[in-house]
Amino acid sequence: MSVPPSPTNAGSASLSPRLYPWVIGTYASFVLAIMAVLVIAGWGVYVDLEETRKGLLQAEIHRLRSHAVRTVLRIQNSLATSPMTNLEETIDEAAWLREHWQTFVPMDPSRLYAAVIDENGTILMHSRPEAEGFQLAPDWYSRTVDGVGDDVVETTDPELAGGAQALDISLPIMHGQREIGSYHSGFNVKWFDEMVSHRRAATRQRWTFAFLIISLIIALAGASLYHVTRRLSALQNALALGRVRRLADLGQLAGGIAHEIRNPLNAIRINLHVIEQLMHAQGNRDERTEGIIRETVHEMERIDGLLRTLLEYARPDRTRIERINLADEVRIIGELIRPIMERESVRLLIETPEQAFVTIDRNRFRQVSLNLLKNALEAVGNDGTVRATLELVGEEIVFTVYDTGCGLDSTVAARMYDPFFTTKELGTGLGLTLVKRYVEDAGGEITAAPNSPQGTVFTVRWPSNSAAVATRGTDSESLSDSIALVSN
Ligand code: ADP
Ligand code: MG
Repeated sequence: MSVPPSPTNAGSASLSPRLYPWVIGTYASFVLAIMAVLVIAGWGVYVDLEETRKGLLQAEIHRLRSHAVRTVLRIQNSLATSPMTNLEETIDEAAWLREHWQTFVPMDPSRLYAAVIDENGTILMHSRPEAEGFQLAPDWYSRTVDGVGDDVVETTDPELAGGAQALDISLPIMHGQREIGSYHSGFNVKWFDEMVSHRRAATRQRWTFAFLIISLIIALAGASLYHVTRRLSALQNALALGRVRRLADLGQLAGGIAHEIRNPLNAIRINLHVIEQLMHAQGNRDERTEGIIRETVHEMERIDGLLRTLLEYARPDRTRIERINLADEVRIIGELIRPIMERESVRLLIETPEQAFVTIDRNRFRQVSLNLLKNALEAVGNDGTVRATLELVGEEIVFTVYDTGCGLDSTVAARMYDPFFTTKELGTGLGLTLVKRYVEDAGGEITAAPNSPQGTVFTVRWPSNSAAVATRGTDSESLSDSIALVSN
């Protein structure tokens, strides 16, 4: 028995790893979300560090100021109880103050100096005695400092601060109602900055560590996702390949059987014809016998139609690409199928532009459109409407068939493209299989959706320049062949 080659898409099945886009999309969103969280958290920590710096500065300044207030009160008490009336003399006597400084200033790294200055700006007393007796320059401080009080200024005065950077807290020394000088306490800016940067470094270290751990987790998740996807995709390909092989075998088998049955079938048909002729020749015209013969020929033609469809399914690719006005083609197909529709009282509407020049395989387009129209007709029953539209959208032909029929339930929708799947008593289950194969071979796609308010819409998108698809073989069927194929 001669066996026709298997369907073309069996061997060249290109199985796209459909999982990849989904996995990459999910992974990218996951990484982006984590990055966003990290950026927000990092920004929060930065703001927090700034706030912490301000808070710390305020607390330290407050501590020094309280200390200074206590000392000033003590100086004012000494002034009140001393027989001396001027500050200089009183201070000279105040040995307690020097002792106090010698104990506290070196012990407290936040404090750079302490000093008493008279109303003329002369340094009367200083925790560094070599600074005493100097007159402060009029511009001894550079600026006031925000957020810590009006009594705080920034200075790098060589005598007062010894050239280092200090925040000077000054408090007035009162004698009665009169301000006779001021007490100064210098806050060590270098010490403070070092302390803050130490804290920052610790926070940065913790964050870098957390960032590295998170990056490691992301990388590990990516690697395992990649691994799992590859395995899944391999599994998917293996399953799909198995299915394609099964279909190919089925096609080959069906094609072989169809081919073998058609020969004896033809012989039987010829014999029936000969019997009829003989009966006529012998003048033996029996209505009943002739009726039986006609019925038998009709049934045989139906079988032949089915076999042709089977052969079409199993036949190797034969495409013939040509430039045609597809609008004319659709109109012709419409006119050919109209009588069949009218027989069933089905309204047929054809909408096409005046011209739609495209490069396409005419026969395959015929098969596709006729199969879809025939299915629509079979779905609607009496008094339904079938509408077919042709549009050129960008680089695509969009051919759509709307019907007001029974619609597709989910089990049918899932299996309708499978070979031999049919819900009809006399169906072949090959119509949509062929349609899908032809459309996809040309680089297009077919989709089905519910029609409103009832029925189904089949949409075929077909590249308007199919010249890119390889042209093989030149034989083509006539339009009546195509009609015969679908109308059996
Ligand atoms: P057949 O027409 O020989 O049954 P097809 O492959 O053309 O084979 O269709 C497969 C099945 O898909 C049909 O039996 C039918 O159940 C369903 N189907 C196809 N077209 C339509 C439609 N327009 N409306 C409802 N069901 C449809
Ligand atoms: Mg069909």
